[in-house]
Amino acid sequence: MVVTTQREDATWYECEDCGLLFDERTDAETHEHRCDATEPTSTQ
Ligand SMILES: [Zn+2]
Repeated sequence: MVVTTQREDATWYECEDCGLLFDERTDAETHEHRCDATEPTSTQ
């Protein structure tokens, strides 16, 4: 899940699974889909 975080007057998008921060929501969402921290699914 991607969550928004306010830091130093800027909005960051954080991957809740591994804690990585992104300055673009799309980057965070793209990462989330391939994040190693997410639980494995039946489709790998
Ligand atoms: Zn992640």
